[in-house]
Amino acid sequence: MKKVILIKYGELTTKKDNINLFIKTLKQNITQKLFNKNVDIIHDKGRMFIESSTEDYTEIISLLQEVFGIHEIILAFKLATVDLEEIKTHVLELINDKNFATFKVVTKRSNKNINLTSVEISSLIGAYILKNKSSCQVDVHNPELTLNLEIRNNESYVYFTKVAGLGGYPVGTLGKGILMLSGGIDSPVAGYMAIKRGVKIEAIYFESPPHTSIEAKNKVIALAKILAKYNNDIKLHVINFTEIQEAIYKNIPHNYLITIMRRMMYRISAIIAHNNNAKILVNGESIGQVASQTLTSMKAINEVIKIPVIRPVACFDKLEIIDVAKKIGTYETSILPYEDCCTIFVPEHPVINPESHLCSEYEKLIPYEDMIYKAIKNHEVIKITNTVENNFEDLL
Ligand code: ATP
Ligand code: MG
Repeated sequence: MKKVILIKYGELTTKKDNINLFIKTLKQNITQKLFNKNVDIIHDKGRMFIESSTEDYTEIISLLQEVFGIHEIILAFKLATVDLEEIKTHVLELINDKNFATFKVVTKRSNKNINLTSVEISSLIGAYILKNKSSCQVDVHNPELTLNLEIRNNESYVYFTKVAGLGGYPVGTLGKGILMLSGGIDSPVAGYMAIKRGVKIEAIYFESPPHTSIEAKNKVIALAKILAKYNNDIKLHVINFTEIQEAIYKNIPHNYLITIMRRMMYRISAIIAHNNNAKILVNGESIGQVASQTLTSMKAINEVIKIPVIRPVACFDKLEIIDVAKKIGTYETSILPYEDCCTIFVPEHPVINPESHLCSEYEKLIPYEDMIYKAIKNHEVIKITNTVENNFEDLL
């Protein structure tokens, strides 16, 4: 008997046409995640099997719990037999040291050479347990122990517990998106939610040194690193926004500062998306949260680009966003106090219902196309991988 991990696929099994791509990508993602764990991974259309020579799966299970596209993670015992008599003996061995008063057996059989149905096999095994473990009874509704048996063509699996996976789609199956990642609470959550739907994320961060500090940038790097756990790795585009931001500040009526600034961020993000073959932008905007996130503001900002903008937390309350941030481990980093470029240049009375024609008029006051070109040409790319030990928290 050997201990192995059995993976049940998530939602992907409903996508019949794409199933091969989904499984292939999931396998690649798991291989990358477990790159230094010395495991063998094999798969078929219904399951993935992971075998480690050490048979120590504690850490492997925690790592698998960061991989999207997995419905359940099961620690199973692999029996090198499909013979029911042999299975019975192994089963008895496995339950020998377990304490339970009630149990049931659930069988799944993909081996068509066995003449019994799954239910008949369960009864057979159940009867054998009853005969050999006198103190217990069968309870099909609320058993203390559920013994799952899967009989395949050449081998069988027995297991008692399963751990929930993250669900979602394997990262990358839906293509790529650019996440506008600030140091706040909302955007990392938005990124996580997009990754969950199979979107591979690259992040973009706008910094305005010396108005924004190196700590603010390191905080974004630390957040990107947390997201990289779910995204395999992450490419972070850092855009120096100082020249554009100062030009806006000097030349444009202050109630329109944020609107114009965000239109510039959108323009740059859309070009970065185009250059990197990304199909969407993702950001942490939430309807009504601030003046730039009223519906009128969102429209005036969005209209400068054509690429779709996905706003996963648009309809979440702040407390709901915070809940997710805590769950995925970004909250503690997000609440560190370093200010980003938005917070520094916030005017006292930002316009709540900006008018598009005024935005265009004001933008004529600055040579923004040249500045955007320059910012993109000089931008820095930071690659954060999961395969080497990065400790960006140390930088904070
Ligand atoms: P967050 O929304 O991440 O908590 P925030 O609330 O300070 O941070 P907002 O001013 O609400 O940010 O901006 C809305 C969204 O715009 C952010 O969620 C993020 O996606 C994007 N954004 C804002 N500032 C930046 C920045 N400096 N770099 C990249 N994206 C940014
Ligand atoms: Mg926000």
